[in-house]
Amino acid sequence: MPKHTIVLIPGDGIGPEVTSAARRVLEAGGLSVEWVVLPAGATAIEQGLDNVMPQRTLAAITAHKICLKGPVTTPIGSGFASVNVQLRKKLNLYAAVRPVRSMPGIKTRYENVDLIIVRENTEGLYSGIENEVIPGVVTSLKVATEVACLRIARYAFRYATRRRRRKVTVFHKANIMKMTDGLFLKCSRKIWEEEYPNIDYEELIIDAGCMKLIQDPTRFDVLLMENLYGDLISDLCAGLVGGLGVTPGANIGDDAAVFEAVHGSAPDLAGKGVANPLAVIMSGVMMLRHLHEDASADRIRKAYDTVLAEGKTLTKDLGGEANTEEFADAVIAKF
Ligand code: NAD
Repeated sequence: MPKHTIVLIPGDGIGPEVTSAARRVLEAGGLSVEWVVLPAGATAIEQGLDNVMPQRTLAAITAHKICLKGPVTTPIGSGFASVNVQLRKKLNLYAAVRPVRSMPGIKTRYENVDLIIVRENTEGLYSGIENEVIPGVVTSLKVATEVACLRIARYAFRYATRRRRRKVTVFHKANIMKMTDGLFLKCSRKIWEEEYPNIDYEELIIDAGCMKLIQDPTRFDVLLMENLYGDLISDLCAGLVGGLGVTPGANIGDDAAVFEAVHGSAPDLAGKGVANPLAVIMSGVMMLRHLHEDASADRIRKAYDTVLAEGKTLTKDLGGEANTEEFADAVIAKF
């Protein structure tokens, strides 16, 4: 009997390629699992379903509580609402956790980057409430609630404490958005003062924060921010350590967790078998830790760190020639 039942959403574009490679690595690394493979995104429509976020897929994640997800495509400017936003809201996956660290053997401008982005995942400008006031005038509503702001702040400080992190920095724009970002800041400050005064605390207006991130990312530890800022800063930070091929993520709620890379469906690479599966493999390692499978998590992390450090089998985004499956094979060969 497999020890875990995990929902797998292959997703769109490069999703099926990178999740298939990650699945092989996770199983070879010791994960005892029954995968429940279900669609979401454009793939669901291609399979004849009438919804990009099928009820069956949501129900399976609710039942099994854990999901490994490939990226899904969202049409730009029109079309269906983002599957990711729907999934995060419907399952109340309020905390996006995205570790960003310098990888062995991957040369970038910086060394020793080791930070965690904690992004509020359910509201802000991603509330999806948009309105045409009159032709030529449209609005988009930014929503901040005290409940969600306190919840994400508490999550970030608790995470920092449990992981022995020393500092939480809040990125905000409360000088302009005095009410919404003002509430986010007030809640972050309250949780720090009342519950976690032993953690260092810092507030930065996000524009200056971006400059400081580029000047010296090693001065940061845990970064806490609302939804849109977290989305943007995640890709910026990916660029500090080698790109979207090496940045994993988790969407955590009280009742379920969905693990997925920061990157999207990369239509430019889809079907070529050359995308880097590492970000999904790393998301899988986060999932293993969530499942208290630390021995497997350590084994897999050690294996891909070794492959990266040797530099012989790297995908194109990291300067190599290996394809998706060859990279996965190289990791498996290290077990
Ligand atoms: P993207 O992340 O798909 O790609 C940006 C760039 O990074 C591209 O040049 C791509 O080739 C490269 N890249 C991405 N992942 C890679 C990997 N694993 N290996 C090597 N190179 C990789 O972003 P985009 O092009 O802006 O978005 C494409 C689609 O993905 C859009 O529909 C967008 O809405 C969606 N998206 C989905 C998610 C998600 O499902 N979580 C996240 C971001 C974007």
